[in-house]
Formats: sequence, C-alpha cells, structure tokens
Amino acid sequence: MSILYLVDDKHVPLYRVMWVAATPHFCGEPDCQREGYYEVRLEQEESVWANQRERDGMLTALDNWQGGMGAPDDDPDGDQASW
Ligand SMILES: [Zn+2]
Repeated sequence: MSILYLVDDKHVPLYRVMWVAATPHFCGEPDCQREGYYEVRLEQEESVWANQRERDGMLTALDNWQGGMGAPDDDPDGDQASW
C-alpha cells in the first residue's frame, strides 16, 4: 500500500504525521477558513486540514500502515530472555 495519503490536495507521507485531530477545528474567528476541518499535524510545525472523509481515511491509512509494518519487538524488560 501507499505510504502517501491525500489531504487537502497534498500527498502527505504517513510517517510525517504527528497526530490527527479528534474533533473539528473551531476557534471562533469570524473569517476562519478551517472551521469544521480536522487538523493533521505534521513534523516541523506544519499542518494540513482534512475534511471528515479525509480525516477518517487518514486514520484508516495510519492504522493499516502501522499494522503492515509490524510493531518492533524491543521488550525493554526482557532481561530474563537468554537462558
Ligand atoms: Zn480557526
């Protein structure tokens, strides 16, 4: 599968996503262009803004991507493992 996901006309690499907003943006500014959109925070203090469909798709893509990679098995308390 692709590690890019299209949000707001930008192909965002999944590994650059820091977090995805759970609730739509609301700041009360009368001329806010982002109201009702979900912030997708990227590295280096960049953000892209997803509509609900893009947000849901992004979360699914992130889930699938993590699952596909497999969690690294570093087991920090595994000090009794080598008999
Ligand atoms: Zn706003």
